[in-house]
Amino acid sequence: MLLDTFGRRAVDLRVSLTDRCNLRCTYCMPEQGLQWLAKPELLTDEEIVRLVTVAVRDLGVQEVRFTGGEPLLRPGLVGIVQACADLDPRPELSLTTNGIGLARTAAALRTAGLDRVNVSLDTLDPDTFHTLTRRRRHHDVLDGLAAAEAAGLTPVKLNAVLMRGVNEDEAPALLAWCLERGYELRFIEQMPLDAQHGWDRSSMITAEEILERLSARFDLTPEPSATRGAAPAERWLVDGGPARVGVIASVTRPFCRACDRTRLTADGQVRNCLFATGETDLRTALRSGADDAELAALWRTAMWGKKAGAGIDAPDFHQPDRPMSAIGG
Ligand code: SAM
Ligand code: SF4
Repeated sequence: MLLDTFGRRAVDLRVSLTDRCNLRCTYCMPEQGLQWLAKPELLTDEEIVRLVTVAVRDLGVQEVRFTGGEPLLRPGLVGIVQACADLDPRPELSLTTNGIGLARTAAALRTAGLDRVNVSLDTLDPDTFHTLTRRRRHHDVLDGLAAAEAAGLTPVKLNAVLMRGVNEDEAPALLAWCLERGYELRFIEQMPLDAQHGWDRSSMITAEEILERLSARFDLTPEPSATRGAAPAERWLVDGGPARVGVIASVTRPFCRACDRTRLTADGQVRNCLFATGETDLRTALRSGADDAELAALWRTAMWGKKAGAGIDAPDFHQPDRPMSAIGG
């Protein structure tokens, strides 16, 4: 098992398949100038499957989420999903994506064994989408969402980040839109993980503010906290339920005490936290001939060193050098 000194057990693995992306969300990446990982540094499809196998078979991982960068840019994605779906025990398999290209691949991903998707969409307005992502691809995301639903990658979840002066007014409209379609919406507080280090706490839209804005239009009642478990989103029933909305208050109400995550970057580094400043290099070990037991031991040691919390509020907080897009959000 992947345990740490605070008694937490990591059962949820986030695998980043690439650090590249076809959008340039302002809270994530600069317009240009970001150095991509070099191809030889990236794990091959076979290496990814080998490490996921060790995690699932030997280390107790129960859920695998593919992310990035934009995971749909990885040519071997369907094959990776298929190989992971063949594992015994079979993990839950999900994907976090910006949705571009999902219209083409949703059915194949479902057939390969993908269970669910989270699609990121911050706005209903194509121009605001362009301001936020620097690309005119709003319609591609909507097509991707529809395809995910049609393929049975359900419940379809939507992730949204609100930015002051850009889409901060859209919270109620986004929720109404999701309710109409049966999508589950979760707002994520903007975190200090952008490549350009432009995060500013004073302008960040807090969970409290999001809830205030939603409450102007909807009646929100908290779901009993017992059902939150290790899930980062706190959830509210909308107008009495059963529809729900979630808020991931990573900054103002961190959920580190219940964290059950472990992360593998596209270049084969294990990270025990999004905000960790250290990593454990499984790629070098793997390419030097380490056997599965040795890889598992390295992974265990990496998780044992996990800190109590992300420490965003600590006076000595230091944003990790690796941006979100290269960690895997
Ligand atoms: N490209 C895919 C996508 O956008 O869904 C997967 C990777 S992206 C890094 C994963 C999630 O992280 C997205 O929902 C995105 O909105 C969120 N994200 C990126 N940068 C963030 C930041 N600085 N703070 C909070 N969430 C962020
Ligand atoms: Fe790309 Fe996702 Fe980052 Fe946006 S949040 S730039 S879609 S990796």
